[in-house]
Amino acid sequence: MTRIAIIGGGISGLSAAFAIEEWRRRGSEVEYTLYESSSRFGGVLRTEHIHGCVVEAGPDSFLTEKPWAADLARALGLGDQLIGSNDANRKTYILTHGRLVEMPDGLMFMVPTKILPTGMSPLFSWKTKLRITQEMFHPPRAADHDESVAAFIERHYGAEMVDRLADPLLSGVYGGEAANLSVRAVLPRFVEMERMHGSLGRGMLAARKKMRSWKNSAPPIFTSLKNGMQTLADAIVAQLTPTSLRINTTAAAIEPQAASWLVSAGMQSDVFDAVILALPAGAASSLLRMAGPELSAELAAIGYTSSITVALGFDKDVRQTLPPGFGFLVPRSEGKRILAATFVHNKFPHRAPEDRALLRCFFAGKNAEDVWPLADDQIVAIVRHELKEILGLRADPLFTRVYRWKSAMAQYNVGHLDRLDRIERLRQKLPRLALAGNAYRGIGVPDCVRSGTDAVKQLLG
Ligand SMILES: Cc1cc2nc3c(=O)[nH]c(=O)nc-3n(C[C@H](O)[C@H](O)[C@H](O)COP(=O)(O)OP(=O)(O)OC[C@H]3O[C@@H](n4cnc5c(N)ncnc54)[C@H](O)[C@@H]3O)c2cc1C
Repeated sequence: MTRIAIIGGGISGLSAAFAIEEWRRRGSEVEYTLYESSSRFGGVLRTEHIHGCVVEAGPDSFLTEKPWAADLARALGLGDQLIGSNDANRKTYILTHGRLVEMPDGLMFMVPTKILPTGMSPLFSWKTKLRITQEMFHPPRAADHDESVAAFIERHYGAEMVDRLADPLLSGVYGGEAANLSVRAVLPRFVEMERMHGSLGRGMLAARKKMRSWKNSAPPIFTSLKNGMQTLADAIVAQLTPTSLRINTTAAAIEPQAASWLVSAGMQSDVFDAVILALPAGAASSLLRMAGPELSAELAAIGYTSSITVALGFDKDVRQTLPPGFGFLVPRSEGKRILAATFVHNKFPHRAPEDRALLRCFFAGKNAEDVWPLADDQIVAIVRHELKEILGLRADPLFTRVYRWKSAMAQYNVGHLDRLDRIERLRQKLPRLALAGNAYRGIGVPDCVRSGTDAVKQLLG
């Protein structure tokens, strides 16, 4: 019987545990213990139901084009719970000189593909519009080194594109700044487009043409679960072996022995054949300080930022007055604290009753650190003040919730992929150790699911 310790009960660790259950169902002689330091499984996947609204404290959805989370949901019997974003209503605004400006038609992520709507849009100055036109003629280029997303996008479109689009879009995903994030780790497709086509605009058009010839109708951009993202974590837990689960149990130390690992957690030590660390890199680094000091140092160098989400529920009068669309992004240059707001009732079905509006505002990185010491009601006051300035929203909310996530978003800074190569070499020097989680090859929920499943494959396959 192979015994595996899984440390960390977020979606990465839960996916690993579920993968082991599947190996067991197929006849493998393997068992596991899943250690989670907090009082619940799911990590940042947390959903509350308030006044008939489905309120997401952490992730609200995942990218449909990454299949692993939806595949897991189907394997758990949740196929009929999967919902797509209301893409027919998709409109996103960018706060530009204090006004909400709709992203122009043809903008794919941050790449303009239609000259006319971009040319007419007040989002960019004439200088940037000229750069966008010229970019279509960039010759292919193979960069031999990593660089920041900001430097890469600036080479193509100039600094205004970084401020107006690249930085706010990536802040929403990574909670980090385009000036630090690695283009190779965060936007590998853009690097490939530059190598193949030179122009990102032409690269996007070529990719879209290919997609069209494969598919008749585009799938929704985002997928979620009808009753919230926590459903995914709860459904996994329901299919795990109850005696394998340890909540309120922090793994304090792990020690390699001749052909095994000694795991000390919650006043007890146990011997395992293999260990999966499904933890934020800093926590994995602490546990490996003695067993692999070099590996530990590399893991510690992966930075994390904190984020805060604030949910506000309103009545139907507010719903009628809010702009259509999914919400807005706030460039740093606008001098606000919030980085984004989602009109949740528009983005997904089943999130709010017809007579409710549900807004979710987002602080990340330095903005989150700045407001972190404040009490929840002071943070809500900042949000309401900024929503009044941006949307003219004066109504009192029916409810508010503040959710704080300390050091939860991994930062793939310049050089991240080289660091991952070093981590992989160092990991192989330790016996039967696997790493999973959002620190490595994808921060989103689908990538974390894949990382948990792959960790099990690595140990048992
Ligand atoms: C606010 C927010 C919004 C997000 N939005 C999206 C989104 O819309 N779409 C998307 O795809 N992704 C989103 N993400 C990213 C994604 O949700 C996370 O990257 C992913 O869920 C991380 O899962 P994880 O299991 O790797 O880590 P975590 O969820 O952080 O879980 C790690 C677990 O390990 C436990 N732990 C730590 N130390 C120990 C120890 N020593 N012993 C035992 N247990 C320990 C912790 O308590 C925790 O439960 C968002 C993240 C945040 C914070």
